Amino acid sequence: MKFCYLLIALAATVLSGCATSPTGRQQLMMVSDSQMSQMGLSAFNDMRKQGKFVNAPRERAYATCVANALVAVLPPPWNTQQWEVQIVGDDSANAFALPGGRIGVNKGMFKLASNQDQLAVVLGHELAHVVSRHGAERVSDNLATQAAVTAGTVYAGSRGGDTNSVAALLGAGAQLGILLPFSRTQESEADTLGQRYMAQAGFDPRAAVTLWQKMDAQGGSKPPAFLSTHPSPGGRAQTLGRQAQQLLPVYEQARASGRAPGCRM
Ligand SMILES: [Zn+2]
Repeated sequence: MKFCYLLIALAATVLSGCATSPTGRQQLMMVSDSQMSQMGLSAFNDMRKQGKFVNAPRERAYATCVANALVAVLPPPWNTQQWEVQIVGDDSANAFALPGGRIGVNKGMFKLASNQDQLAVVLGHELAHVVSRHGAERVSDNLATQAAVTAGTVYAGSRGGDTNSVAALLGAGAQLGILLPFSRTQESEADTLGQRYMAQAGFDPRAAVTLWQKMDAQGGSKPPAFLSTHPSPGGRAQTLGRQAQQLLPVYEQARASGRAPGCRM
């Protein structure tokens, strides 16, 4: 990766390197997992202070049930991490997961994702972004492409600086009114991995097709907020449909071995 070497040279003052994503893709990594966790926790705490979370015990217990089933099949260290789920008082369909073990689900998501399998599509996808270190990759790409001045600014975020831009980089941007979408490559990767986690956790992977079709059907002039930060890679529904068929044995084996979540509101 000539690109990576060049950027490492540019970012000599920042701890930098290249990594490999769970699907084998090369990634530029200039921030550590612990820095990302600090940024995630900081962004989540800001939302809490701003009063974005609502007291919705039924939704919260339901989303926590789905999240816990998914977290159990994540690779270490994510499977042993303590994940906190909060419900965001927003009627648009959106959700996010942050490094550091934090998940936010908008109230509006429960209208779009109408059963546990569909909610698992959303949360599996979000958790896959975290496990694939997509936030760190975005921070790193941002640091690299905008060079030293911006590098200082974004890096300052990890030191308690501008947490709004940090939150945007982590994918909670829509929550704070800042839109910064994941790349289509990252989206494809999160789709594939998230669907695998679903099947391993005993959620029906075919629900991914249904959920994304519903997202697309709501498109037009006012698409779901989720799509603004999670752009649709080409042929998303077809790819997910094909992968669902491949994952059916995994799903059936999970159910047979007792991984059969019964999450409901
Ligand atoms: Zn996404």
